Amino acid sequence: MIQDIPDPVTLFPERAAGPGDLLLTLRGGQVALAEWSPVATVGAPLAAVGGRGFFLGAAPGMEPGSAQRLRAIPDASARFGAFCALHLARWLLDHRHCGRCAAPLARVGARLRCPECGHEVYPAIAPAVILGLTHRGRLLVTRYADRPYKGPALVAGYCEVGETAEAACRREAREETGLEIRTPPRYFASQPWGLSGALLLGFFAEVADPGRLALADGELASAEWLAPEALPPPPDAAGPLSLTATMIEAFAKGVAP
Ligand SMILES: [Zn+2]
Repeated sequence: MIQDIPDPVTLFPERAAGPGDLLLTLRGGQVALAEWSPVATVGAPLAAVGGRGFFLGAAPGMEPGSAQRLRAIPDASARFGAFCALHLARWLLDHRHCGRCAAPLARVGARLRCPECGHEVYPAIAPAVILGLTHRGRLLVTRYADRPYKGPALVAGYCEVGETAEAACRREAREETGLEIRTPPRYFASQPWGLSGALLLGFFAEVADPGRLALADGELASAEWLAPEALPPPPDAAGPLSLTATMIEAFAKGVAP
């Protein structure tokens, strides 16, 4: 998966930017990444991995595009570093002022602190579930209707306040597909996913009655029950980077829980 790299990731490295480092710019929902150069504008440090730093910043000629482009970075450490940097960049840009007294926040290590009232803000991580729905040896593979990512997907969604991950699985299955889970969700693995600021929790669960499949309006374009030999290959050239692709591969190989 994308987080499986040989080097540890350092968050908010306390050093200056230099040759080999990468600069991240966010504009609207779009992202641009460029190599550091002496004429670049450099902001806060975000992450470092394998000797390469990621900073907020801008360089001439940066062209913002979909954040999905970060999946295609060929070097594995740089790819995961960019995901972590994007997660922190969005958090920093969304928390410029104190939510209690509106004074500008200042970063202290890995948190933001209000110099006026002392309020502290830590990076937000949103727990979300990915659910492989199964029925008699087949896996339900979906496609999103309204997202930039168009590859194969599984039922997924954020956990709500007061909800366990298992309850989120049952609710998302019902809301997205109309299906009820017959067995308790079986945990598979987790994954930090900087594209959406999430910690993904992967589960498999058998459904009671596949005939009740009814897609929610607008969210899913398609959903089909696929046998292991019919499952799609991973959408990324580097192999199964996402938890979703890893779960689909595990089901195809018969090693899913
Ligand atoms: Zn304050």
